[in-house]
Amino acid sequence: MSQADADLKIVWKGTNGQNFWAGRDGESAVAIVDHCMSKGADGTRATLESCANWFAKPKSEVSAHFGVGKDGRVWQFVDLRNTAWANGILEQPDLSLPWLAECVSRKINPNRRTISIEHEGDSNDTMPEAQYRATLALHRFLIATVGIKADRQHIVGHYQVTARQRANCPGAGFPWARLMSDLAASSFQDPVTGFAVNEPFASFWRDHGGLSVFGRPVSEAISGEKGFPECQSIQWFERARFELHPGGVIMLGLVGNEARKLFQMAI
Ligand SMILES: [Zn+2]
Repeated sequence: MSQADADLKIVWKGTNGQNFWAGRDGESAVAIVDHCMSKGADGTRATLESCANWFAKPKSEVSAHFGVGKDGRVWQFVDLRNTAWANGILEQPDLSLPWLAECVSRKINPNRRTISIEHEGDSNDTMPEAQYRATLALHRFLIATVGIKADRQHIVGHYQVTARQRANCPGAGFPWARLMSDLAASSFQDPVTGFAVNEPFASFWRDHGGLSVFGRPVSEAISGEKGFPECQSIQWFERARFELHPGGVIMLGLVGNEARKLFQMAI
């Protein structure tokens, strides 16, 4: 199990079955939008608990996929297959982000194509270490299991979708530089195939021989739902298939068995 998985414990909370759309209207998640909770509906400072209560009230009409507490707790409110109501208002959107520009041109609600993460705290708060470790692990998990690209084009702030009303979300206290450098440091970008190996596969790949044993990555990490339902995600290499199983266990796919059957080899 990698360090990233050891740090990550996602607790399901839900929203009382409301404040989200079932499915993604044929779209899939391509980006993470980071938020800070700031003030609650009553004007007091929001907490992980008050956020959960608000998402579960019919009148709130807001939700996010995840909330990360200052103490490192990670709560999930909306299934990743569903559309949370976190960042649906396009207001001077950052059109340098190709996926967001496409939302504008195709008139797609950005919630359809994003995974939203709320962070307990105000926009100027310095993020405590426990909260940072948890959100780093959550970002790594989403990169590995959903195939989100680990760059600033695909890991964005709410202010890039809703520029005026949410100019301070997630705000000056959000550790963009550290987060992006930690995500980059743990990944391997193959210069030949152009594919990246991200955590938790990156540690496994490195620790067990890397390029000379497994060959180059020939795909991104792919959600297990697309053909490998027993896995959270898989990634293809020239000489192997990595599989992420529940509990953070990485196994090699039975590609020898599969190839032998495919080619009807008698030997
Ligand atoms: Zn926000």
